[in-house]
Amino acid sequence: NSVFEHILQASEDPILGVTVAYNKDPSPVKLNLGVGAYRTEEGKPLVLNVVRRAEQMLVNDKSRVKEYLPIVGLADFNKLSAKLILGADSPAIQENRVTTVQCLSGTGSLKIGAEFLYRHYNQHTILIPKPTWGNHARIFALSGIAVTSYRYYDPATRGLNFEGLLEDLGSAPSGAIVLLHACAHNPTGVDPTPQQWEKIRQLMRSKALLPFFDSAYQGFASGNLDTDAHSVRIFVADGGECLVAQSYAKNMGLYGERVGALSIVCRTPDVAGRVESQLKLVIRPMYSNPPIHGASIVARILKDSTMYQEWTVELKAMADRIISMRQKLFDALRNKGTPGDWSHIIKQIGMFTFTGLNRNQVSFMTEEYHIYMTSDGRISMAGLSSKTVPHLADAIHAAVT
Ligand code: PLP
Repeated sequence: NSVFEHILQASEDPILGVTVAYNKDPSPVKLNLGVGAYRTEEGKPLVLNVVRRAEQMLVNDKSRVKEYLPIVGLADFNKLSAKLILGADSPAIQENRVTTVQCLSGTGSLKIGAEFLYRHYNQHTILIPKPTWGNHARIFALSGIAVTSYRYYDPATRGLNFEGLLEDLGSAPSGAIVLLHACAHNPTGVDPTPQQWEKIRQLMRSKALLPFFDSAYQGFASGNLDTDAHSVRIFVADGGECLVAQSYAKNMGLYGERVGALSIVCRTPDVAGRVESQLKLVIRPMYSNPPIHGASIVARILKDSTMYQEWTVELKAMADRIISMRQKLFDALRNKGTPGDWSHIIKQIGMFTFTGLNRNQVSFMTEEYHIYMTSDGRISMAGLSSKTVPHLADAIHAAVT
């Protein structure tokens, strides 16, 4: 008998399980709108030209070796990542009160942040938006942090429940951690306006709530790296402290390279130094040190002004294609006279549209139209193309009529 005989079969991950089901479907018209990965108009994964070029340079550079990186990762990568999210002229960087460690993409950055907070922060409660990315609750709960939620999405308006959000943050325990999506909220595609961000900032600072930003889509939402970093920057500009988890999965298309960074903005350089020393103690027994290849690609691109420029152009092209898919889907539904107000499709931002379709409608669309998406009705706009929009519009129309 196996010593593992008692183990039960676990269910598939709700997001990654969509792809498993999709792969099993033999239909030629099947469409995967589940996973959040960019696809071209031809439905193919995209490696950015600037990434290919950076990789070529790395391969040609015979002085490069495969030695271990330090525990905190590649120094250039860390410095440039902080600059990217906080801004080139950030006083926090100039005053040396930011510590940045290279982590395994966005997920790994959140995890290192969670483990650090569990060990070194006295308030073990985090509020996450309702709804949020499916992994957030587990990342923090498994690090021993109590997870509660704050109201975020209003199904009635398919927009932000701003009053509810303020009420819930207002009644949070003093010092609680608050998870904020820096931009392109996943799964809803609904972001606060700059005015609303300012109110959130004031409220959070007045209650000493600790902001933990998840920045998985910088540049991918609006097409502009600075615009998408606005929320983080106002929290740094006030001199207060915060954490930021960055991912290069979407904005550089480096999904499988697992490149990301955790920055902790502190009050003083002295605190930042001590925080970094403790981050090393979190990382060392977990995976010792991060991988070198992906971070080297990112560092090359961020360091070289020509390559950086090239990246922003390719990034904007991805963002623009997604925005154009929103318009195409909206137009297709309007032209068909599909009942309901679908304007949220063009109002929402980022990779996903939170359609408002319910679980039954989603199963109907999967069974009858071979369209795969998460059961909450979230569709990845990045997985759509001009060719597949009509098929999706037909399916939505049939599902709601
Ligand atoms: N945070 C959010 C909101 C996301 O949507 C994702 C990816 O889908 C991530 C974090 C982390 O992604 P990764 O670990 O691939 O960088």
